[in-house]
Amino acid sequence: MTRLLIIGPPGAGKGTQSAKLAEAFKIPAISTGDIFRENVKNETELGQQAKAFMDRGEYVPDSLTNDLVRDRLAWADAAAGFLLDGYPRTADQVEELDRILTDQGESLDAVVLLIADTDEVVRRLLNRAIEQGRTDDTEDVIRHRLDIYADQTAPLIEVFSNRQLVVEVDGLGAVQEVTARILEALASRGIEA
Ligand code: AMP
Repeated sequence: MTRLLIIGPPGAGKGTQSAKLAEAFKIPAISTGDIFRENVKNETELGQQAKAFMDRGEYVPDSLTNDLVRDRLAWADAAAGFLLDGYPRTADQVEELDRILTDQGESLDAVVLLIADTDEVVRRLLNRAIEQGRTDDTEDVIRHRLDIYADQTAPLIEVFSNRQLVVEVDGLGAVQEVTARILEALASRGIEA
């Protein structure tokens, strides 16, 4: 039973590494960004509410995001553990996640912090814009997303640090190398895939 978070700036490789870790630990990778994008694509009510925020590179309001995660974590597949990618991103979301886990008598095992410098993430995101055509990957929106990350999400690292949960990993390098680094760092804390 492994419960993990992966945190880091947009473009650090969270989505890519989440997929690898989910496979290794046999747990679902739950990406709030993916769930929002799926809802936008399917034109659900949630998608319609989220789209304008996403297109501007802003955070979807906590109330919507928290409800979505509470629902998703109640699915049967998350009972055996999970990896949350892109959540929590605000102090309010940390509080909600604490409440969800406490309600279920659960706690986190580790928070993987993927480190990548700004020039590198901007380069990667501009590349992704070409490859995937994401509407929030234009240069202006990318810069805005990085500012919001620095302002609202980076401070959360200290919260998890104080709980001795943070496992810091260099996100630069080939996908496989980074995955190996993360698995090694987790194993050294007794969290084995
Ligand atoms: P991501 O794929 O994680 O980069 O997320 C893409 C976009 O979805 C973000 O820029 C936000 O607009 C929205 N989003 C994803 N996760 C969250 C979250 N935890 N809180 C608020 N907005 C989110």
